Amino acid sequence: MALIVQKFGGSSVANAERVMNVARIVTETYAKGNDVVVVVSAQGDTTDDLIAKAAEISAKPSKREMDQLLAAGEQISIALLSMAIEKLGFPVCSLLGWQAGFSTNSVYGSARIKKINTERIKVELSRKNIVVVAGFQGINRYDDITTLGRGGSDTSAVAIAAAMHADRCQIFTDVEGVYTADPRKVKNAVKLSEITYDEMLELATLGAQVLNNRSVEMAKKYDVVLEVLSSMTNAPGTIVKESVKMEKMLVRGVTKDVNVARISIIGVPNVPGIAYKIFGKLAAENINVDIILQSVGRNDTKDITFTVSADNCEKTLEVLRGLELTAGLKIEYDDQNVAKVSAVGAGMETHPGVAASMFKALFEADINIQMISTSEIKISVLIDKADADKAVAAIHDAFIPDSKD
Ligand code: ADP
Ligand code: ASP
Ligand code: MG
Repeated sequence: MALIVQKFGGSSVANAERVMNVARIVTETYAKGNDVVVVVSAQGDTTDDLIAKAAEISAKPSKREMDQLLAAGEQISIALLSMAIEKLGFPVCSLLGWQAGFSTNSVYGSARIKKINTERIKVELSRKNIVVVAGFQGINRYDDITTLGRGGSDTSAVAIAAAMHADRCQIFTDVEGVYTADPRKVKNAVKLSEITYDEMLELATLGAQVLNNRSVEMAKKYDVVLEVLSSMTNAPGTIVKESVKMEKMLVRGVTKDVNVARISIIGVPNVPGIAYKIFGKLAAENINVDIILQSVGRNDTKDITFTVSADNCEKTLEVLRGLELTAGLKIEYDDQNVAKVSAVGAGMETHPGVAASMFKALFEADINIQMISTSEIKISVLIDKADADKAVAAIHDAFIPDSKD
């Protein structure tokens, strides 16, 4: 007998028919003699709809009340799925995040899991129940409800698999696995049979929504092998693990992120310590800075340009304007028209020329590059948002074998 964690995303439980379909998958696994813990997200667009409802009431609701609201989505889906499992004649018990023992810190809206007390889940499993847990939520030290950030149910599932040393952690979604690009946008994207944690982490962080990046970080940390697969077909999915057999592919995925803002500070003094003052302050305010570009100083001044997530643009501008050394300087920003397109692959670490091939593909597609950043396993470019899909397709065609037919 094995312990299996199965997670189902919003589209997998979007309506009654799909909830029944998930109930069948879960009960088939249980009927084979396994212990099953199921993690579910809110149905369909419920979370977005709740956010829209909040906006009808207030432009700036408190983050505590926002989490109180958003957690309701998963409460609905665990109850409905449990009813469907009951209907099929199987024993089941649904648990909210706090009932399942999820303790988090108090950063409402993007809380981090501190600990899971798995006692209750274990009791329910020992009673032979299928356990259905609400993803995306936990409770903080003040006994208040918190949520883990968008896509956070993936992290809930991995956390349970890690805490309970599950034998398998299956992430069911609405595509058949992890592809070389978003299969809804790039028709010739290829399904990967395996991908490393490091590659998946980069892809998830750089915009591939199929897995939440914190869930991949946690899977790597606790060595939880993930299986990403479709809840709608029986096709084999993608295995995410530490190392995979070397393939010829230099690039394993191409992705875009449109939640990006570019900020420039023009004419800062050309003296030591400026970058430290600016980025030290941004770090202290918990603002993640991504690509940074500094010009060579001329006539005693230099320019610094960097990117942050578009959500953080306003806060970043506030911090910059509050800095003494930027008073009177020109600050330019664009949080509407830029996108970051990235190619990811462990193979590029040992192969020179990947960047050049990527720039060639962009040149041939007549796409202008505004900024570039590289690491061992990824190359990102900042470009016009209007060109993003075209850029993904061009880079994908240049690197992914068999993707052009
Ligand atoms: P769920 O509701 O199951 O959590 P998500 O919508 O969060 O599902 O993630 C699945 C979606 O991720 C897919 O429908 C697909 O459009 C998108 N996606 C983006 N990049 C990729 C990729 N490289 N491989 C697979 N899916 C991707
Ligand atoms: N329902 C949450 C969201 O839409 C969590 C999740 O789907 O993983 O972001
Ligand atoms: Mg998701």
